[in-house]
Amino acid sequence: MVHNFNAGPSILPKEVFEQAAQAVLNYNNTGLSILEIGHRTPTFQEVMDEARFLVKELMNLDEDHEVLFLHGGASTQFMQVPMNLLDEKDTAAFTDTGVWSTKAIKEARLFGKVEVVCSSKESNFTYIPKDFAVPNDAKYVHITTNNTIYGTQWQTIPRTSNTLVADMSSDIFSRTLDFNSFGLIYAGAQKNMGPAGVNLVVVDKRILGKVKRAIPTIMDYRNHIKEGSMLNTPPVFAIYVSMLTLRWLKAQGGVAAIEKINREKAAALYAAIDENPLFTGTTVKEDRSMMNACFVMNDPALEEPFLRFTKERGIVGIKGHRLVGGFRASLYNALPLGSVQVLTEAMKEFALQHA
Ligand SMILES: *Cc1c(COP(=O)(O)O)cnc(C)c1O
Repeated sequence: MVHNFNAGPSILPKEVFEQAAQAVLNYNNTGLSILEIGHRTPTFQEVMDEARFLVKELMNLDEDHEVLFLHGGASTQFMQVPMNLLDEKDTAAFTDTGVWSTKAIKEARLFGKVEVVCSSKESNFTYIPKDFAVPNDAKYVHITTNNTIYGTQWQTIPRTSNTLVADMSSDIFSRTLDFNSFGLIYAGAQKNMGPAGVNLVVVDKRILGKVKRAIPTIMDYRNHIKEGSMLNTPPVFAIYVSMLTLRWLKAQGGVAAIEKINREKAAALYAAIDENPLFTGTTVKEDRSMMNACFVMNDPALEEPFLRFTKERGIVGIKGHRLVGGFRASLYNALPLGSVQVLTEAMKEFALQHA
């Protein structure tokens, strides 16, 4: 048995893989693969419609919020968001909470002015800044709700009268939020929703159409909305698998139900870190991520032996990102509580051997 703690691409439900594998061979007894049918056929249209509807339902979206499945990863949105929302003379406010925020800031600067309103860079991004002010005239405020590499997460979403834009790549569908309070949400699929190659974009259509620049057709959200997220050939397989994951999530009871389990998983792992004399968490406790738990060993010489020890128990994907070191265990929706228990047991056992 493998316990998959990979940060991304990452674990998806086993039944999703089984259904996806079957759909590659013979989709719904059509004698055709899902990969060899036209995207404008009624067969695929149903997949797209269901995927978009499930997002609306699971996120409880109102009529103003449109759901799009677009090509590219979250990194494409670093560019596409400012292209659609920020004129050259405008200012966007950014919170700098990690590598992904920093990259989003760099791209936004190509389109307008950027004011970085807070940063935890000086501490290697071990916390979420709390006190900062956003200029009234900022076109939007950008946050990265979960910092995949450093293991911090905004526990409460900052209140602002400005349009709120969020990169939710690594915590989308993991907890309930008032999603309608966001102007735009984007997420690469490969952390918590599906395979790499597709972005989920949820956008309040009222914020679009305000910039003066000419936007290339394929980059303009309004064109995708008009065409029902089928402006050109969409990434059909990634959308199909995402739809299966969303169906699975609904069957689990939806976002609130999975959040409860996610909280249990995170609580169990952080407790195991805190009570173990060999390990230390790398972030401040109040900002700890429910999705990516980062920790180091007090004696770095024990890190390699611990990695081998866990590998023997089927645990994979816990080596930390090079910018943090140590370990990172990702606890996405599809990871069962049982896998977390295998890891926490391994930590205890290893500590007994090295006491
Ligand atoms: C993984 C990740 C990205 C980058 O996604 P790509 O699909 O590789 O472009 C951006 N933001 C966050 C928060 C991520 O976790």
